[in-house]
Amino acid sequence: AVFFHQEFTMTIERTFSIIKPDAVAKNVVGEIQSRFEKAGLRIIASKMIRLTPEIAGKFYEVHKARPFYNDLCSYMSSGPVVVQVLEGDGAVLKNRDIMGATNPKDAAPGTIRADFAESIDANAVHGSDAPETAAQEIAFFFSGTELCDRP
Ligand code: GDP
Ligand code: MG
Repeated sequence: AVFFHQEFTMTIERTFSIIKPDAVAKNVVGEIQSRFEKAGLRIIASKMIRLTPEIAGKFYEVHKARPFYNDLCSYMSSGPVVVQVLEGDGAVLKNRDIMGATNPKDAAPGTIRADFAESIDANAVHGSDAPETAAQEIAFFFSGTELCDRP
């Protein structure tokens, strides 16, 4: 009965993901993307870009009042990143589960942050925290024509 219920309440969602400069520098882009694919998420858009501090600042504006904001923005512009859109059943929460906790010291074994992250700043990946923020973050980096329909 539980299985039946889950099958019919799962909804196809899109979420926004960044492979951060530390993970790109470690050459684990493919390994990280593979984890999303193995969990049933489809990459429907992906590009490698270098953020300016201004763009990073705009993207992380929600954290403007936090003490780590300036460090975060300079870190995110310190090297290339991969921005991507993931699609699948419950994609927002699924991505957060695969990522692990913000601080890699607290991240569960087998999560991306447990396996690849260095520190709370250099923590390998970003992932949207809700469907509403996912929509905003996707629109921040991608135009509609860059999102590919996947069967
Ligand atoms: P996330 O959603 O798990 O990425 O975490 P948050 O949205 O709370 O924070 C955004 C990013 O800011 C995190 O991924 C970290 O890289 C960084 N960050 C969050 N909290 C701290 C902190 O207490 N100290 C520092 N230095 N960085 C932080
Ligand atoms: Mg967040």
